[in-house]
Amino acid sequence: MNKFKLFKTPRFLYWIFPRRTWGFSRKINSVYLTFDDGPQPEITEWVLDFLKEKNIKATFFCVGNNLLKYPKITECTKLEGHVVANHTMHHNKGTKISFKKYKESIDETSKLVSNNLFRPPYGRITALDSFRINKEYKIIMWTWLSYDFDPNVSIEKILEKAKKQIKAGDIIVLHDNIKTFDRLKLLLPEIVKIIEDKKLTFEVINA
Ligand SMILES: [Zn+2]
Repeated sequence: MNKFKLFKTPRFLYWIFPRRTWGFSRKINSVYLTFDDGPQPEITEWVLDFLKEKNIKATFFCVGNNLLKYPKITECTKLEGHVVANHTMHHNKGTKISFKKYKESIDETSKLVSNNLFRPPYGRITALDSFRINKEYKIIMWTWLSYDFDPNVSIEKILEKAKKQIKAGDIIVLHDNIKTFDRLKLLLPEIVKIIEDKKLTFEVINA
């Protein structure tokens, strides 16, 4: 069964959750590639090689535990001009653990990155928690979800949506994790090509 998938974040969410960054001005002729869940050996390295070849900079929302496990890849990501940002210590779901534990997980990761950009794993964070976190962190959501993690969505379907929907100002989500790697290898070059054909450039998210 092919359930209805929302690639594009519905605009009403911007109004319901104004403290979160959903996307950037359409007037800036850029999009923002983001990669969640790394760093992972081989996978993140493949992404870094690809981005280097294309001279593209991106924002990586990293799991703190992986940053500790793979310091060389972390260093490489930073050295190559990408932004390494916070995705909690253990990919915690904010709606499943106490705020205290959640905040600790974010704070611990914060020591490993050099900015205040934070993306909640699964995009799940309560309005109250985002209010509390917002004082210290900039919550970065997205405007375009690739569904690279969902094998029920075909590569063709994703690319068709990318062609139709990706616009200036979009924050695009991809994943550098084990589950998505096979699909990412197919998707990333094609999505980049689609963006280049639209004459858009690539920027990192600034804190
Ligand atoms: Zn994640």
